Amino acid sequence: MKLSLYTGDITKMEVDAIVNAANNSLLGGGGVDGAIHRAAGPELLAECRTLHGCPTGQAKATKGYRLPAKYVIHTVGPVWHGGAQGEAQLLADCYRNSLALALELGCRTVAFPAISTGVYHYPPEEAAAIAVSTVRQFLADHPDGPQVIFVCFNAAAQAAYRKVLEQ
Ligand code: ADP
Repeated sequence: MKLSLYTGDITKMEVDAIVNAANNSLLGGGGVDGAIHRAAGPELLAECRTLHGCPTGQAKATKGYRLPAKYVIHTVGPVWHGGAQGEAQLLADCYRNSLALALELGCRTVAFPAISTGVYHYPPEEAAAIAVSTVRQFLADHPDGPQVIFVCFNAAAQAAYRKVLEQ
């Protein structure tokens, strides 16, 4: 089984790449982005400055610096505006583009946070459904794809993923 769930802090994970739910500037923010920058150290922000931002749904990689993870894959999730503004497509793009980049980098293990479900207000269960179905499809299309861990930061996120994975 190439999909698993983990409850805890993504910055502590010993994987090839962790995914950051960043914003378009890639210059740091709150939530998981802030936690990743704090744990990685200022070298991460310095490398991010060289990337000149990232469009919503796309992904860009940096090194992991002081993190146990070798790489950080920065992706920008959609802000939830009610669901009629292409949010689902953009969220699926985040997972697909992050995995394609992970594959290019030779990553065998990748950990994802629940992209867009914090300050971007994507409903957690809908986001979990998109995360799981998009990753499953990617791994079906790429049998050499990485092991994927969905990182839940709290019980509500975990419940959303459990429900989706059991379906
Ligand atoms: P977004 O702007 O994409 O909504 P947030 O960082 O606000 O991003 O939230 C995305 C998800 O990451 C939320 O479910 C939040 O609970 C979770 N999160 C926050 N900090 C961490 C962390 N250290 N490790 C894993 N997940 C985290």
